Amino acid sequence: MKVVLATRNEGKLVELRRILVDIDVVGLEEFPDAPDVPETELTFAGNALLKAHAIAEHTGLPSVADDSGLCVDALNGMPGVFSARWSGRHGDDEANLDLLLGQLSDVALEHRGARFVCVAAVAWPSGEEQTVEGELTGHVVGARRGTNGFGYDPIFVPDDETRTTAELDPEEKDAISHRGKAFRALSELLRQSS
Ligand code: IMP
Repeated sequence: MKVVLATRNEGKLVELRRILVDIDVVGLEEFPDAPDVPETELTFAGNALLKAHAIAEHTGLPSVADDSGLCVDALNGMPGVFSARWSGRHGDDEANLDLLLGQLSDVALEHRGARFVCVAAVAWPSGEEQTVEGELTGHVVGARRGTNGFGYDPIFVPDDETRTTAELDPEEKDAISHRGKAFRALSELLRQSS
């Protein structure tokens, strides 16, 4: 079975290929005219489905997309779908971290709960769709620690851990992460459908 991953992010392609071992996963580089799909929805599932459907329509192949972010309890679930652009500049991890640390600076440890969420969606050329969700719960610490990972990893400590996700090895993070869980569930779903 061949599926297209609706992203130009090479890291996600590598990660998905590592998990979907018996499925032929191709990236958008094989479809240079594929549309760029803006994430205009207000839910992870909405954005993942938007991307998956647009690419399934363009390629005529089953298409997989994901959307993820950090949901902070004290901020009513924000940054959420705005995680990548929380500071106003898309993909500026350092500015996003600084802003979030400032917003939480006087919030007590017991109220610093947060979770990473990932929704993975598959859209079929017939128009059918399915979604699966993975989450990793933990809390946000007061200062950066660690150099692995990306985004909010330096300030997020998973439950039952003392290290931030930026202090975990990539394999350790994959085993517990929101994206690892969602992609493994998706792999099961695709296997059942093939
Ligand atoms: P997207 O799923 O590529 O739209 O990413 C959304 C944003 O959520 C990223 O730019 C990060 O800011 C944040 N994010 C999602 N997953 C992770 C993670 O595993 N570690 C750190 N930040 C993450």
